[in-house]
Amino acid sequence: MDSPFSVLDLGVIMGLMDKWATKLPTVQPFYAVKCNPNLSLIGALAALGSSFDCASRAEIDSVLSLGVSPDRIIFANPCKPESHIRYAATVGVNVTTFDSKDEVEKIRKCHPTCELLLRIKPPQDSGARSSLGLKYGALLEEVPELLQAAQAAGLRVTGVSFHIGSGGAISAAKSVFDEASRLGLPRMSVLDIGGGFTCGALFDAAALKINAAIEASFGSEEGLVVIGEPGRYFAETAFTLATKVIGKRVRGEMREYWIDDGIYGTLNNIVFDYATVTCTPLACASRPENPRCRDSKTYPSTVFGPTCDSIDTVLRDYQLPELQVNDWLVFPNMGAYTTSSGTNFNGFSSSAKSTFLAYSSPIAREHAMF
Ligand SMILES: *Cc1c(COP(=O)(O)O)cnc(C)c1O
Repeated sequence: MDSPFSVLDLGVIMGLMDKWATKLPTVQPFYAVKCNPNLSLIGALAALGSSFDCASRAEIDSVLSLGVSPDRIIFANPCKPESHIRYAATVGVNVTTFDSKDEVEKIRKCHPTCELLLRIKPPQDSGARSSLGLKYGALLEEVPELLQAAQAAGLRVTGVSFHIGSGGAISAAKSVFDEASRLGLPRMSVLDIGGGFTCGALFDAAALKINAAIEASFGSEEGLVVIGEPGRYFAETAFTLATKVIGKRVRGEMREYWIDDGIYGTLNNIVFDYATVTCTPLACASRPENPRCRDSKTYPSTVFGPTCDSIDTVLRDYQLPELQVNDWLVFPNMGAYTTSSGTNFNGFSSSAKSTFLAYSSPIAREHAMF
């Protein structure tokens, strides 16, 4: 089997969609394609009723290539190249975000019938794994002139977007709705609460807070459409990465291993996404009766990626049983910001090349090995 490769568990995706629909029933998910543009994942999400957040022409193309209607795509990038805006116009993607006057001008020129969501900077930027707050989002004092600029350009601002679902952001969004009414603009109807959700234990509490904040700020707003842009929530736990041990060095108690994927490949999430990864030897996961695993002795181990750069180090001082060259090392939760951002540095196309599909039942997942 060619290594490295990934496994996408479609059962996990179905479970996560059920959970979303239960905990955030009023929020329509628009999966953020940049998190993992795998076509099987996008196709599964499309079949389960998700819409999509695309940030570039290529992302729009991959979603459309699966037969998804363009009205299920939002071009959620506040600063886009003109050629991409023109492309959105030709394929019928008619909603985008903005946070500057220059963007209004580009959209007026390249896609004058596009609807706009004003991206705001939430008042406090806590709670998300990686903060986009510095790069994007209008300050609240900039809102009136941006709304007026859009109106002057003949563009309709239909709602507000932001990145993190904190209560403060939702009430700030409400103040933008009110500002639009005050300025005599058409009534807004779209609240886009962005991404930044994890699917772990924090999700339930976050969902309760979001529902309460929407009710508190927008409870009396009729015909409100609420959308979210989850990326990591769907992708992270659905993918497992399998790598092979390609080299080994023993120094006293210490074990050092080289594997065929690393921080320039799928495991770039360690660098760009501040991820903490874990791994298990496949022999132990699938065959606990294996004598090498029954002997539970472990060694402080370093796991290196394949490139000749010393920062290409995946794990340090990590307890592993004794491994041999050609053993498999398996990394769970490898779906978010992994295959989407690897490189071919040093001639190693060290990124999971194939993705195999699996379908686990909820019961199997409860007894999962990883
Ligand atoms: C990256 C991004 C997301 C997804 O963020 P996650 O943390 O993966 O949920 C959603 N919306 C926008 C505009 C983004 O840029």
